[in-house]
Amino acid sequence: MANFNTHITVAAAGSFVATAICMQAGAVTQGQAAALFSFGTIAGLLPDIDSDHSIPAQWIFRLFSLATALFILFFFQAEMGLWQLLATAAAGAICMRFVILKIFTHLTTHRGLFHSLPAAILAGLAMICIGQKLMHWSLSFTWLAAAFVSSGYLLHLLLDELFSVNLMGSSFKKSFGTALTIFSRESWLSYLLLYIAIAIAIILLPLPPIATPLQS
Ligand SMILES: [Zn+2]
Repeated sequence: MANFNTHITVAAAGSFVATAICMQAGAVTQGQAAALFSFGTIAGLLPDIDSDHSIPAQWIFRLFSLATALFILFFFQAEMGLWQLLATAAAGAICMRFVILKIFTHLTTHRGLFHSLPAAILAGLAMICIGQKLMHWSLSFTWLAAAFVSSGYLLHLLLDELFSVNLMGSSFKKSFGTALTIFSRESWLSYLLLYIAIAIAIILLPLPPIATPLQS
């Protein structure tokens, strides 16, 4: 499997090219372009969140705790005083960084469910949910953000597979085929739940702008 430096370099380079294409097409503002670049790069690290104590898992949970604190700040600032707001944001961030991380590492195994194609799709669908229900972004930007997340995630899985091939000896390492899993008999229940979550998200979430019928 590819290491942290390879993953972040390739994810950042891929996101940079995709962001440049979107900017050239006039599809996004500079601020949106910066956000898309970040989403694609972070998504390129996301699958290794299940690797206990790995650098990506530590990084991602630090980002999640920061996002939790910001979320509390943005959405509860009208209901709380300054000190209460700061204390709640700090408590949320600490809870995410230590309690949720602990539970998460206990429940997941490396190269399990998170290194699979349905997980890449679900990550994009989760972005649509966040963009539409929490952030109230425009539909086109939400779908673009989801595409960056799923593509960054897929890029990670492809890199892991690529690094499982011993190019010199044309042989495969033991890990070959474990990053781009579609279904696993041993974890059938987890995969079933993953596909059910995808189906529910597809039914509930708004269609991409291109597929939305024109209003008369
Ligand atoms: Zn990986």
